[in-house]
Amino acid sequence: MVFPDDYPYEKLCEKPKGMKVILQERGLWGSGLKGFCGNKEISLENPRCCARHVLATQEDFLNQKPILQEIIEGLGHKVIFYPKFHCELNYIEMYWGAAKRYARQHCTYTWKGLQETVPQALDSVPLSHIRKYAQKSAKFMECYRKGLTGVQADYVLKKYKSHRAVPDFIFENIDELIK
Ligand SMILES: [Zn+2]
Repeated sequence: MVFPDDYPYEKLCEKPKGMKVILQERGLWGSGLKGFCGNKEISLENPRCCARHVLATQEDFLNQKPILQEIIEGLGHKVIFYPKFHCELNYIEMYWGAAKRYARQHCTYTWKGLQETVPQALDSVPLSHIRKYAQKSAKFMECYRKGLTGVQADYVLKKYKSHRAVPDFIFENIDELIK
């Protein structure tokens, strides 16, 4: 399972070793070990339930980065993952939303039309708007850092839309403000 450092990324998935061979190499194989116990959750207290879970609880498997991250970092870049299901923290979603709105309004219901409209839609959003989306995401992050829930953050950002930063007294009195 350990590939040399210069092993090409495209080939990483070509010849995976079997679970049994890997476990044997590590002295973790035992007769009667099932391939998979059927539990979707890994029990960290009983990692002997099946081969898949014995392997999954190995240090190097737990520390395995996603391949996407490995490739990007391998090229010298940093990777920052946004929390799942929090599109409000990623301002590109707001940009995308504005571009989609333009595309809907200028839709000719033809494939050819769409090919022309999509690049126009992306260009139709002014940089000043994109910067505002980024500021909005930053404000959401600030609200969450200060302990607000999603609903509270939403309320505060609507109410203090024109403010550069959310005033501090808001965070102190949030429970009074939203009832
Ligand atoms: Zn298991």
